[in-house]
Amino acid sequence: MVNPYLDVDKKIMAEVYTSSEPMDNLEVLCDVHDSRFPGTPGDKGSVDYMVEKFKEYGCENVHYEEYTIAGWTRGKASLEVVSPIKKSFDVISLPHSIGDTVEGKLVFLGDGAIDDYEKRKDEIDGNVVMVTSASPLSMKRFLHRSEKYMRSIMAGAKGWIFMNHYPAYGPPTGGISPVIPALGISHEDGSFLTRLLKREKEVKVKIKTTDKNHPTVTYNVVADVVPEKPVDDEYVVVGSHYDGHDISQGAVDPASGAVTVMEIARNLVMVKDRLRRRVRCMCFGAEEIGLYGSRAYARDHEAELDKCRFMLNLDSGGSKGNKGVTFHDFPELEPYVARWAEEMKAYIPTDQRVSPYSDHWPFFLNSVPCGSGGDPEARRTRTGRGYGHTRYDTLDKVETTYLRLAAANYTRFLFRVANEEDWSPRRKTKEEIEAFIEEQGYDKTIALADQMRMYIKENYEKIHPDTEAFIKRSDAW
Ligand SMILES: [Zn+2]
Repeated sequence: MVNPYLDVDKKIMAEVYTSSEPMDNLEVLCDVHDSRFPGTPGDKGSVDYMVEKFKEYGCENVHYEEYTIAGWTRGKASLEVVSPIKKSFDVISLPHSIGDTVEGKLVFLGDGAIDDYEKRKDEIDGNVVMVTSASPLSMKRFLHRSEKYMRSIMAGAKGWIFMNHYPAYGPPTGGISPVIPALGISHEDGSFLTRLLKREKEVKVKIKTTDKNHPTVTYNVVADVVPEKPVDDEYVVVGSHYDGHDISQGAVDPASGAVTVMEIARNLVMVKDRLRRRVRCMCFGAEEIGLYGSRAYARDHEAELDKCRFMLNLDSGGSKGNKGVTFHDFPELEPYVARWAEEMKAYIPTDQRVSPYSDHWPFFLNSVPCGSGGDPEARRTRTGRGYGHTRYDTLDKVETTYLRLAAANYTRFLFRVANEEDWSPRRKTKEEIEAFIEEQGYDKTIALADQMRMYIKENYEKIHPDTEAFIKRSDAW
């Protein structure tokens, strides 16, 4: 097979494998700007840094876009067993938790399968639920933390504990909605509590949280690689969020993806004499606590989205593993990748799966053909996040080898998406998208948030001011 872009590939590969730029950028994002959580100094600091870098690389139209989100600031949190023994545990609040003090019996629901909440309503009502971070084996689809939380609330829970199903990674974090105090606890401490509960039959716990919910301004970074001679006004988007959870450096998730986007921009500029269409490189803010950045972008740029050929989401893009593409139900794109991979002499595994939990989702909802970078093969064997969403997602977990592999594969892949003349993935209609959401059961999550709002209005004697503000908004996280 003749490779029409052999000169382009050689240029990109030589540059990628003789540069330390992604790791250098990663050090700045993680060690200087820390978590880059919305509203922290490192949020704006990292945005200014990325803007400067994209300009230095020769991108055009480099700027950031501001928007306001439901922000949150962590306070001290505690969990105590008050009877039959006295013992306290190291715990952390989950983002969007309200600040409050509650006491009740501990109810352990294991992995928290969908039927358990209704079935054990009498036990749960007025008490504190604990579930693990594992997706229940009995379920076909991934049962997200937010759904377990909402179902607990509608069974009457007054407090919520999210137990890591992985040992040795400490308490997990992850956004919920501001209704009842919610905590993360380590696998080890959670296991202690389940043993105590089994032995003593009844365990009373007290939760104290001091978190604050408040509006926060955050950002999306935009940078265009503009061809010398664009053939039309179609374009491609590649993006990753840059915000980590506030307890960690968010080095793998997401910074390894953000620096990969930067590296792609740097390399595409070098071959823009051969590039036929614009590639928009983006770093989204505020993904972790509700996909706010990509949703704001899709809202503000809706009119331009029909010219978007493809969106590649590189959340955690530089993590360990093969660098393939999971298409969000666009099987007609697999033959393109097979042909390109052959040309490139690269290994780019592909598969199909739609999931709503990252920044491709607002693009998917707007009929943009999209995919996520990653290792389809690893996904089949992995059951959770590991050190992801814990304080151990630190820079030392990221390897130059994989940052380079990501840049090598995705820069060349995106170049070809932008240049392909015979590119016609079928855009999904609104009806197809709705049917798809329903088929996957995601409509239930959305409906659940509305049900929860109704439940709160009808059943709560006193509504916390943070919950009041949440009820008025339309986001479900
Ligand atoms: Zn992420």
